[in-house]
Amino acid sequence: MSKILNEVLSANEQYASTFDKAGLAMPPARRFAILTCMDARLDPARFAGLAEGDAHVIRNAGGRASDDAIRSLVISYKLLGTREWFVVHHTNCGMETFTDGTMRGLLKHSLVTATLDKDGWHDVGQGPGSPEGDFIDWLTISDQHAAVTEDVQRIRSHPLVPHDIPIYGFIYDVATGNLMEVPEATRLGVAA
Ligand SMILES: [Zn+2]
Repeated sequence: MSKILNEVLSANEQYASTFDKAGLAMPPARRFAILTCMDARLDPARFAGLAEGDAHVIRNAGGRASDDAIRSLVISYKLLGTREWFVVHHTNCGMETFTDGTMRGLLKHSLVTATLDKDGWHDVGQGPGSPEGDFIDWLTISDQHAAVTEDVQRIRSHPLVPHDIPIYGFIYDVATGNLMEVPEATRLGVAA
């Protein structure tokens, strides 16, 4: 058995041995949702004080307002009653280190993990790769504040999102653990 598989299963056994959350309802008790990045350094349960059953946490690369993130947010309010949403990007996000062109080029070359140095990303694998990356919008980030603002704006103006849900824009600082508000984003996300 892989080391990781073994570790995860034994951690779960531990968790389940004292499990006392069976009575939780499906709708989030605190009626809010967080859209954030998948970055391993971010733990929304800890940085936002969540316990099981409290809130929806929707994660993808960058915490971007992709079509699929919006699908989840719509389900979050329409069927499960959330009333406030947070978009949380973060400092030192990997999505700032490449462009669509970079990613497409790397994938065309090989499917092996690329390496990053001061000159950017390099592919070190043997091919073949695939041109399928050309058909994906990788939703990369060139400006942190602009990206949070853009994502809040996209959610705010989506026809399936009601006007009375406030959307707050934040950047999480991986060096300090602080959530820093992006006032322009929160202003655009204000409920009406
Ligand atoms: Zn990130």
